[in-house]
Amino acid sequence: KSKTRVGYQYEGKSEKKYIKEIMGEVVSVDSNISVYDTILKMFLKDVGTIFITENKSLTGIVSRKDLLKIAIGNTDITKVPISIIMTRMPNIIYCEEHEEIIVGVRKIINHQIDSLPVVKVTEHKNKKSYKLVGRVTKTNITKLFLEYFDK
Ligand code: ADP
Repeated sequence: KSKTRVGYQYEGKSEKKYIKEIMGEVVSVDSNISVYDTILKMFLKDVGTIFITENKSLTGIVSRKDLLKIAIGNTDITKVPISIIMTRMPNIIYCEEHEEIIVGVRKIINHQIDSLPVVKVTEHKNKKSYKLVGRVTKTNITKLFLEYFDK
């Protein structure tokens, strides 16, 4: 039987799996983009969470509900930058490519969130920078679960 790309068991032996193997494409906008344009991006890219960057470093995250909350108010969402409503660093829960998938699953469940940005952390003059390299969502994890049972 050939070895499949994902799964926790292979011929009875347990196998470690890493974030890098299941992560998907990054969907992000710059922090000065309006709430309205962020909503358009969410529809166009068919995702539930958008990451926000400043100088290519991850600084924020917005979910569907964050966008709904502001959209049902009296705000002109074409004028408000997304940075006003985003959840920002240091409150962002993230993961790194070399971490085990189960670590990411625990973060999603413990923090009750739908997705995790995958970042490469670098430090320059005591300032951390988070380069976005991927994302892990409940959908990635559900697919993995299905592959495990389909084997
Ligand atoms: P929704 O709000 O659409 O149900 P989530 O459960 O993912 O989606 O988001 C809940 C809240 O947590 C939102 O306010 C969102 O900004 C925030 N959030 C989402 N993902 C993260 C994350 N990885 N780290 C920190 N906060 C997050």
